Amino acid sequence: MELAKKYGMQKISGMVRVFQAIEKMNDVLNLSIGEPDFITEPDITEAGAEAAKKGFTHYPPLQGFLDVREAACAYWERHHNYKNSPDNVYISVGSLHVPYLAFAALLNPGDEILLFEPYFTPYASQIRSAGGVAVGIKTHEENNFAPTVEELEKYLTPKTRGIILNSPCNPSGRVLNLKQLEEIAEFVIKHDLFVLSDEIYESMIFNGSHNCFANIPGMHERTLLCGGVAKSHCMTGWRIGYVFAPQNVINTMCVLSSFQTYGVNTLAQKAAAYAMNTQDEKVKERAKIFGERMKAVREKLNNMKGVKCHEAEGAFYLFPDISGTGLTSEEFTWKLLNEAHVAVLPGSAFGETGEGYIRIACTQSMEILLNSMDRMKNFCESL
Ligand code: PMP
Repeated sequence: MELAKKYGMQKISGMVRVFQAIEKMNDVLNLSIGEPDFITEPDITEAGAEAAKKGFTHYPPLQGFLDVREAACAYWERHHNYKNSPDNVYISVGSLHVPYLAFAALLNPGDEILLFEPYFTPYASQIRSAGGVAVGIKTHEENNFAPTVEELEKYLTPKTRGIILNSPCNPSGRVLNLKQLEEIAEFVIKHDLFVLSDEIYESMIFNGSHNCFANIPGMHERTLLCGGVAKSHCMTGWRIGYVFAPQNVINTMCVLSSFQTYGVNTLAQKAAAYAMNTQDEKVKERAKIFGERMKAVREKLNNMKGVKCHEAEGAFYLFPDISGTGLTSEEFTWKLLNEAHVAVLPGSAFGETGEGYIRIACTQSMEILLNSMDRMKNFCESL
């Protein structure tokens, strides 16, 4: 069957190729996927089941149930002193759907969005699906993968409409500090832009605290603040995310939903509301566990031939430089998978700047992580 040209030409991403290869292999220690190894807490699952028994089995409201939107507001006010009204929240099918809807709602053909490499790759495809142009700006490890305003200025054109921020960052683990965010905010005001701030890893910070971009003066009205329960509450499979955004954007997202998904799974929404209202201690405990794993894995990495690993300040990924092994990030990833049966992702899957790096998700038990590091150390020595 002949595919639409735009999809016929689409290549499978470096990330998906690794996921597909693992499916056919046994004995793989899988550090490639960004989802917590912990299962959803039983009381959260129970809350979803209870909702079904109570009759929440019908179509949901397009924008999401009010109690779920209220729970998202209360969570952000409690943790990040960010205040917004439930009217300005849209509940989405995972947080992944937020940028898709946002760009559909906001972009005209040819509009440009600035994003910082290395970045979470789906953003670029989502921008292109909406007819926009994804403009990657390189960042560098020497500057902790932080964007500078000078760089931003260089890439600005009359077509620039917005910026994507992702702090803590997947894949680099970089957390932008307040000063860096303030400088970006100044640039945003000067050039009349909007910002999609993907803060899904807000609960996992190992140094300092999370700075919510929309709290910076002047940014509330210009920001689409994107979050979710997938990582913080170990609910990846429930597919619940959300966005805080200006009213006209929320309204347009509801219109888009009315002919795409017609809202989001009712039971999953109810479970997510319960989760956001009741699990603060668990979220904190797990963040501590991720922090301990990252520290242990980083130490091991820094003892491997040809590998150097900077400290990650947030999220649950390490992004070591493997260029000292003489392999490209693709070569390293595939050789490591085929010879040592350890799965990681090539840094190049996150944009050109990722070349020379691999991404390791610390989303397995300490035992599996340390085992993987033993295999990887032997692999590096064999090169
Ligand atoms: N944003 C970032 C930066 C992510 O890393 C991910 C998941 N890997 C998502 C969004 C999507 O999360 P969800 O499961 O809520 O769709």
